[in-house]
Amino acid sequence: MPNPKEIVDEKKIYRTLETTQNQPSRTIDRILGKSLEKKGLTLEEASILLNVNDPAIVSTMFDIAGKIKKEIYGDRLVLFAPLYVSSFCINNCSYCGFQSDNPEERKKLSLDEVKQEVEMLIDMGHKRLLVEFGEHPKENPIDYVTEAIETIYQTKKGRGEIRRVNVNIAATSVENYKKLKSAGIGTYQLFQETYHRETYEKLHRNGPKSDFERQLFAHDRAFEAGIDDVGLGVLFGLYDYRFDVMALLSHAQYLDKKFGVGPHTFSVPRWQPAKTGDWKPEHPVSEDELLKIIAVLRMTVPYTGMIISTRERKEIREKAFEIGISQTSAASRTSPGGYTNESELEQFTLADHRPLDKVVESSLDRGAMPSFCTACYRRERTGQKFMDLAKPGDIQMYCVPNSILTLSEYLIDYAPPTTRAKGERVLREHLARIENPNIMEEVKRRLIRIGQGERDLCF
Ligand code: SAM
Ligand code: SF4
Repeated sequence: MPNPKEIVDEKKIYRTLETTQNQPSRTIDRILGKSLEKKGLTLEEASILLNVNDPAIVSTMFDIAGKIKKEIYGDRLVLFAPLYVSSFCINNCSYCGFQSDNPEERKKLSLDEVKQEVEMLIDMGHKRLLVEFGEHPKENPIDYVTEAIETIYQTKKGRGEIRRVNVNIAATSVENYKKLKSAGIGTYQLFQETYHRETYEKLHRNGPKSDFERQLFAHDRAFEAGIDDVGLGVLFGLYDYRFDVMALLSHAQYLDKKFGVGPHTFSVPRWQPAKTGDWKPEHPVSEDELLKIIAVLRMTVPYTGMIISTRERKEIREKAFEIGISQTSAASRTSPGGYTNESELEQFTLADHRPLDKVVESSLDRGAMPSFCTACYRRERTGQKFMDLAKPGDIQMYCVPNSILTLSEYLIDYAPPTTRAKGERVLREHLARIENPNIMEEVKRRLIRIGQGERDLCF
């Protein structure tokens, strides 16, 4: 087992946070300038930015983070939906509605029910899902997880289908990760929740998740099993966000150094109320702090995708989209069967309840392209290959054309007339901005083919 200090060296993180307070403006200006080069920042530089509280500087950080995101990925926002498959869980995470102490009845979907939920999601226009399971070796063994994934890929409705299934299941063994890999998953996401060991152990008192190191080195095991797209995250509210952001960044550097591949995504969930008795977070993170976290992550690790969920209200999500978020969930439910039946046990409550089309429309109103792209892993642009394109910002050669094509499919197959009109205008604007004339001509040809009924013409 590697040394946990390689990822979280508590003393070093505290010392860095302490010694980087109140830096002179010339130091901060230098870091802001460096971040625009899109080569990333050191942990010390990230710490200086985390310690900035001057609203004028924070606002400049937002502008820079937004610019970096657009230069790397283009002005597009990838959409997905979570699919909760089972709320059975043997862990007792203090913050979660699925904790084993919660006596409410649990539910797991049969494969038929998985199919029904997926049909609902396809009918909305979704192409990408994130499957979620509680940890329960008896109720949710790995073969049930992989059968659910296979069912999702097999489900077709009209012209629609799910083309990428990302997975958020508890830390597991190399052998089980190999099975996930064989099931054709996109990204494997797992959040450390908090990197602060004492707090982690206090909040995860029993069950297999109580093992801090099992969680910390789960991504190492996933890599060992051949999964090279992994997502990291912190559940904000559990511990001091500055500490956790520093440790998250350190984890990203560790993976990059060890496997030559940094994380594919960062997730930035904030705790939301759940049926957890009277448990309340001791370190609540404000919306302004969340936005600063997003900007610092984008400036420090420019190539990593960043995900915000419907845990956040619309207004804050819209701001976050402008400062570095590249993927978001839409029209989500957090209970197994929640798309076909509203009354089941939820993991936590959500703040943005808009249907997918409204999220698409508001993205179009900002001139940004909603994207249903799932191309990279299907074209084998994962791991090192993805990073080689993302790090210099070449990935947008694919992101922009693929957003245009998948948005066009959505507009034809699912959008009401107002969204369709707005979408066609935004799509034409983005098409006209493609610099390479050969790519532009090819996108135009594929748009005609989509108009004639062909689908899934990604680059
Ligand atoms: N059960 C698996 C695990 O814990 O890793 C994976 C799925 S769990 C459904 C996904 C994530 O939801 C957890 O990692 C946690 O960060 C988040 N979560 C749990 N309770 C939450 C709450 N009350 N508010 C917001 N997010 C929560
Ligand atoms: Fe179970 Fe995951 Fe909730 Fe913990 S966070 S109780 S492991 S579902």
